Amino acid sequence: MSFILQLYRCNNHFDGDGIGNGVNWHHTFSYLRSLRRCREHEVQCLSAALETVLAGACWPQSRVHSAKPDVSSTCTLCGAQYADSFHSFWGCAYINNLDIDAISSTNYLYEQAIDGFLALPCLWLRAILPSHMAQIPEDENNLVDEPVWSYDLNPPEQGQWPSGDYFGDGAGGNRALYPTLRRCGCAVACMSDQVLQFGAFSPLPGPVQTFPRAEISAALLCILHLADHAIVKFYTYNLPFAEAFNKGLDYCRGNINADLYVHIFTEIRKKQLQFSVRWIPSHLADDPHKERSGKIPEWVTQHHILGNQHAIRI
Ligand SMILES: [Zn+2]
Repeated sequence: MSFILQLYRCNNHFDGDGIGNGVNWHHTFSYLRSLRRCREHEVQCLSAALETVLAGACWPQSRVHSAKPDVSSTCTLCGAQYADSFHSFWGCAYINNLDIDAISSTNYLYEQAIDGFLALPCLWLRAILPSHMAQIPEDENNLVDEPVWSYDLNPPEQGQWPSGDYFGDGAGGNRALYPTLRRCGCAVACMSDQVLQFGAFSPLPGPVQTFPRAEISAALLCILHLADHAIVKFYTYNLPFAEAFNKGLDYCRGNINADLYVHIFTEIRKKQLQFSVRWIPSHLADDPHKERSGKIPEWVTQHHILGNQHAIRI
């Protein structure tokens, strides 16, 4: 309760309007967290500046003027008569013309800022994200309860997929960095002698949209399509999944995604599959660093690299 009251108090603090109904702290601080990982002096200065903005500790000329009327509210950079937060962050002609990427690359948001800052100053002037902006309304959440398959290159019917090499991929979509907005998908590519035979994709079923579930579900959804007695090598770039699977069902029962593992092992037993899982690093074709660091397993060939690429593309 006291925390909620604090939010209302913060709402009335400098440029804080919009905080009162709740803040998504995870997203608000995500950029700051990424800056703090770097030890370079310039980045640390940027980090300190961002903290100042988030804390409402900036003092544009208009704020100084309101506290000390004998100080002018005029912008010392461009001469505009009233330099408030909006002017400093979005409207100052001098600042907007500076050859600094962070400024020139965000100038296009100026019109949105004009519309937005009166309603939500906390977002446009303090970089604080209100909770409601990080939620997808229930009737627009695009979640599915069951897989919704789309196919590549006309694969056999479900339950008829043959033995062979399959490559899985799980991805978080274009809002992958934001857990409450993330929508995952699972893809499978069937390869033979470096050639894509067919593939399939589905949104990740269920309300829990995490990368591990997407990776594990790619294997499960492959298994659900396989013919009985199929012999399959399944390649994943999710190392924890490969390790957990290879330790067996009893080990996987303790996993946070135990429901998926139980489903996988149940289907393997029911269909009497020979289903092995191997890990390969992702994006092998376009990340030479992995090659230099010697992380690629010795058995990886062009066939596996291409399979990985197709799974990612699908
Ligand atoms: Zn100015």
